[in-house]
Amino acid sequence: MTASEPQPRRVALVTAASQGLGFASADALAAAGHDLVVCARDPERLEAAAGRLRAHGVEVAATPVDVADATALEGLFGLVDERFGRLDVLVSNAGGPPPGTFADLDDAAWQRGFELTLMSAVRSLRLAVPRMRASGFGRLVVIGSSSVRQPLPGLVLSNAYRPALAGVVKSLAVELGPDGITANLVSPGRIDTDRVRSLDAGRAERTGRSVEEVRAEAEASIPMGRYGEPAELGAAVAFLASEAAGYLTGQSLLVDGGLVPTLP
Ligand code: NAD
Repeated sequence: MTASEPQPRRVALVTAASQGLGFASADALAAAGHDLVVCARDPERLEAAAGRLRAHGVEVAATPVDVADATALEGLFGLVDERFGRLDVLVSNAGGPPPGTFADLDDAAWQRGFELTLMSAVRSLRLAVPRMRASGFGRLVVIGSSSVRQPLPGLVLSNAYRPALAGVVKSLAVELGPDGITANLVSPGRIDTDRVRSLDAGRAERTGRSVEEVRAEAEASIPMGRYGEPAELGAAVAFLASEAAGYLTGQSLLVDGGLVPTLP
């Protein structure tokens, strides 16, 4: 390739991307000029999301996949190879684990949380790394939760499996530094998505209050005084995926409006 030839666009895979934080991440990457592969479970919602992403003028391949299904995940990476023949960015996202206190959770719930929250990311990372090693460039971004710093009441599966993910990401940053591949965790506090609205609705029902009261109380605990916008998390993901972030690895970045009061 000569200097005058245009560089091919970078290719990003974003899992669980039909709405919420996955969609916002894909949208920010599309706006930054990445071609995309996206998945989620519901084909109709996914196709609608893919249409919105294509409006950025990039190529988008979309396929229904349950990220907790190991075989389906392999097929998803097969689609990346078939459609684009390269992978530069992985944003590993999944639906949130079901809420529950320790007393609520039986073995089956623990097993489902393990597959959905931990293993979906572990398998996606395992599939992404050899593809990135081949090109000597890679950006791994895992969507976590503020539970990596401070346990969340009634979300024991998140409190257990997200810190495990933080450990995986840190280990990868060390192992993959020599390959020019970065690995970072981006952890939302309370970003205004269906997931957070449904957790608020559940809390309202359990405590006999209105959803508005529950939300107002939660917003009052955030120094910024409001829930975040999905695009605010997407912007952080797109930065970590950029060439400019090439010396930033092994980090656990909270996008939480100041919610978690601990030191970094
Ligand atoms: P959301 O419910 O709005 O969106 C979830 C997306 O994941 C949807 O596109 C859905 O179709 C897809 N999805 C769900 N289960 C899937 C599966 N098994 N396979 C493939 N796709 C699947 O949720 P969100 O708020 O965007 O949250 C994304 C992740 O971030 C979740 O793991 C959530 O727990 C975590 N999180 C979010 C917040 C927040 O403030 N929104 C805070 C902490 C953690």
